[in-house]
Amino acid sequence: MRFMRLICTYCGKDYPLDQPYQRCEDCGEPLELEHSKGNLRGDSSIWRRYAEFYPFLDQKLAERLTLGEGNTPITISEKLSEELSNVVYLKDETQNPTWSFKDRGTLIGVIRAIQLGFRKIGTVSTGNMAASLSAYGAKAGLESIILVRPDIPEEKIYPIVVYGSRLIEVEANFGEIYWKSLELGKKVGIYFINSDDPFRVEGYKTIGFEIGEWMLEGGKESGKDGKDGEIDYIVVPTGSGGLLRGIMKALFEMKSSGIISKIPKFISVQAEGCSPIAKAYEEGNDRIEPIKEPKTIAGAIADPSPPSGNEVLRKLKKHGRVLAVSDREILEAQRMLARSGIFVQPASATTIAAIRKLKDEGYEDMKFMCILTGAGIKVPSAVKEMFKFESLHIQKTDLSGLEKVLEGG
Ligand SMILES: *Cc1c(COP(=O)(O)O)cnc(C)c1O
Ligand SMILES: [Zn+2]
Repeated sequence: MRFMRLICTYCGKDYPLDQPYQRCEDCGEPLELEHSKGNLRGDSSIWRRYAEFYPFLDQKLAERLTLGEGNTPITISEKLSEELSNVVYLKDETQNPTWSFKDRGTLIGVIRAIQLGFRKIGTVSTGNMAASLSAYGAKAGLESIILVRPDIPEEKIYPIVVYGSRLIEVEANFGEIYWKSLELGKKVGIYFINSDDPFRVEGYKTIGFEIGEWMLEGGKESGKDGKDGEIDYIVVPTGSGGLLRGIMKALFEMKSSGIISKIPKFISVQAEGCSPIAKAYEEGNDRIEPIKEPKTIAGAIADPSPPSGNEVLRKLKKHGRVLAVSDREILEAQRMLARSGIFVQPASATTIAAIRKLKDEGYEDMKFMCILTGAGIKVPSAVKEMFKFESLHIQKTDLSGLEKVLEGG
């Protein structure tokens, strides 16, 4: 294994890999793995295909602990493209083992924990990350500890405890629990693989590699004309900022390796009811201000003090922009996506809501790649919310009347 280091995204201080460093001890900002250079290999497993960009990864462990994450489809939606006057590609992350992209990062985080000698792993999450960590913890035979807030809705509890993990309700806000977990975890022997853990972010790179590969192949999997694989913008729902950082890192690594020549711009989307990064971006600030009372239907991105928020600001000043969309726009977009065949959760629908906004700003004939981060079936209450504004149209009949109803259309 090549000698690698963790580097502070802000001050550049570096840290050795043999200790469980996650944040910079000087400035508190997130650490990231040194950039890797390499080539793609022909292989069906994403971890072997991109192995040169994971020189630190124990491939044997990856093979043993994988649940089949990644290799998700990219399709074009002709219906949405028409409705939005732009080309809309969809990267469908709902097709991961626990129905969200979190699995890609969880696997690498779990391997990191094992390599450091931990037997217990944990995370701070109410939703997708908790389920993902619990699943991979179960597969690896580790104890999983999930910290949540006491107001966690019941529908979110079962998809976590079913895997056998320990659920602990903590009376505090998410930001406080995030920082406390990192501090206490090292003391009591639990490796917390939180939202923007450096190794979780490394796992998210695979989305960027898959998009880069698709671009190289001329977008032919899109099923459209396949004439080129160029993308103008990658649209990323953003909570903590970990996902966006991972996708960006992958594309920059591909570019500096000479595999791709051009990198798309990035659009980070937040929900208006909890949009500290978008707010700082609009106001031209360098640092985010935590949100006091987050309120949005897009629970998966409702992070009131995003631990990678400042880093996202630094990155997107150069390489894109941040915007926020309202709950109403999110629910409408969620329905638009469902009516074009993909049922996502509200957080993922922010991507389509964002393109709609950009269309109103005058964006036209641009090519957007939307990251559809998680499955809608996990948040049934959001669909109920969607139909709050109208009466459900359900026809009723007995058997003798069925023919008539069917004919009636
Ligand atoms: C976690 C999550 C996000 C945001 O990812 P971050 O890394 O926290 O920015 C977006 N959508 C869904 C469905 C998620 O679960
Ligand atoms: Zn630092």
